[in-house]
Amino acid sequence: MDIPPRVPPRVLTVAGSDSGGGAGIQADLKTMLALGVHGMSVLTAVTAQNSLGVQGAWELPVDAVRAQYRSVVDDIGVQAVKTGMLASASLVETVAELLADLDAPVVVDPVGVSKHGDPLLAASALDSVREKLLPVATVATPNLDEVGRLTGVVVEDETGMRRAAEAVLGFGPRWALIKGGHLAGDAVDLLTDGAEEHWLRAPRYDNRHTHGTGCTLASAVASGLAKGMGVPEAVRAAKEYVTGAIAAGFPLGGGIGPVDHAW
Ligand code: PLP
Repeated sequence: MDIPPRVPPRVLTVAGSDSGGGAGIQADLKTMLALGVHGMSVLTAVTAQNSLGVQGAWELPVDAVRAQYRSVVDDIGVQAVKTGMLASASLVETVAELLADLDAPVVVDPVGVSKHGDPLLAASALDSVREKLLPVATVATPNLDEVGRLTGVVVEDETGMRRAAEAVLGFGPRWALIKGGHLAGDAVDLLTDGAEEHWLRAPRYDNRHTHGTGCTLASAVASGLAKGMGVPEAVRAAKEYVTGAIAAGFPLGGGIGPVDHAW
């Protein structure tokens, strides 16, 4: 008897490479493997990076990004997309234009600056993120620093997170996931579409090896959506996965080590 091959859901990450393997495309593909989906990648930029920070970054030509995307989408097809580091206004606009025609959920991680303070998005690209990219997002996943850069809202408590979510939703994503991990106390995130409100809490682990947390969370959300979960269910499952990955984060090099995707 022939057993038909199992075809896993397909998820595309549009993001930058982290040569150290902790964040970016590498974190995305490891997350997708761990969560049982087929991961594919459109590279937007290459970084020379390790546990100490980003030593160099080079963005790819717009045509190279467009060609990678067409190769994947026109033949293999995608059930969900995640965007990460997009580097420049022209890349943000190119990616937003491509995604506007896609019939699949899009998770936008509006990556701005690395944990070490290295810029991963030009300041001149913020308008394009607000006006072009966020409107095509099913879920936008800013941390508090990105909320500040995108909306000007400074968040100090859970009331501030509500204001931040409202401001982000004002740019057009269907859902906003505000990541409050930088506030004191438990790691609290707020997911809302303006009608429903879901507060997600996880214990704070005393572990500095958290490189790649944001990439991992957004990729896990996209993986859940590709499997057919609704947004709240996908975000809950992703938060659980990333919490385990943070708890198991390990030291590498002399700086901040990566979360463990295979925990
Ligand atoms: N490098 C790349 C290519 C990324 O996409 C990101 C985050 O999205 C980072 C580095 C930063 O990772 P972290 O802030 O977790 O150290």
